[in-house]
Amino acid sequence: MTLNQKKKFNTVPQLEKITSLVHGFGSRNLFERDILEKQEWKDFTLVSIKQIHSDTIHLIEAPPLKRLSGDALITDRPHVLLSIRTADCLPVFFVSTNPKAVAAVHCGWRGTNKGLVQKVVETMGCTLGIRPDSLVVALGPSVKQMCYEVGDDVKSSFPNQKTASRFFRPCPGRRGKYFFDLKGINRFQLLDVGVEDKNIYSVDCCTRCEKKYFSYRRDKTETGRMINFIGMSS
Ligand SMILES: [Zn+2]
Repeated sequence: MTLNQKKKFNTVPQLEKITSLVHGFGSRNLFERDILEKQEWKDFTLVSIKQIHSDTIHLIEAPPLKRLSGDALITDRPHVLLSIRTADCLPVFFVSTNPKAVAAVHCGWRGTNKGLVQKVVETMGCTLGIRPDSLVVALGPSVKQMCYEVGDDVKSSFPNQKTASRFFRPCPGRRGKYFFDLKGINRFQLLDVGVEDKNIYSVDCCTRCEKKYFSYRRDKTETGRMINFIGMSS
């Protein structure tokens, strides 16, 4: 990964090579005005949503007139900059080069529980004719497993317990508490619907451990949200 623009956002080198693609996983130093004021991106319209930890997906054909609610955005149009805000949750980008399309997804444990990334792959397939094995996926900065403790309620809420339990590691000496591998289970879900391992890239850091990120777990309610964005210039 590369940290750009005075450490304001991370980019994935393999995605940087894709012609006309614009993307970034923001640090706490990236603000909406940085994006709006950037000369190279003046033709883009920033689209953000009210995130509700759902499996609601929007296909954006034009910038919406009012703010939508949901947790995933897909577009096949140029000059639409999709954005997702996170602080410990996992931001996921999808890129298809033929046909051209991008998606930005917000995955916390609730979205993961609903199989959100799998539903995004399915939606890109049935609405835009994109094959899962042609998708390039980037998993952004999120809280790492050993920094993400959850209770029995979270673990037992997952469908297919036999598979899901692999991603919950019991906390030593703390009954009913587990360390949850949010990134691991999302990677598993992607592979399960036909995304290829060689096409999945990951920004490996921990938002809770690294101070350049906002962390809901570390900062509690005082925290802000990082802006993650992706779009196409043609
Ligand atoms: Zn950590």
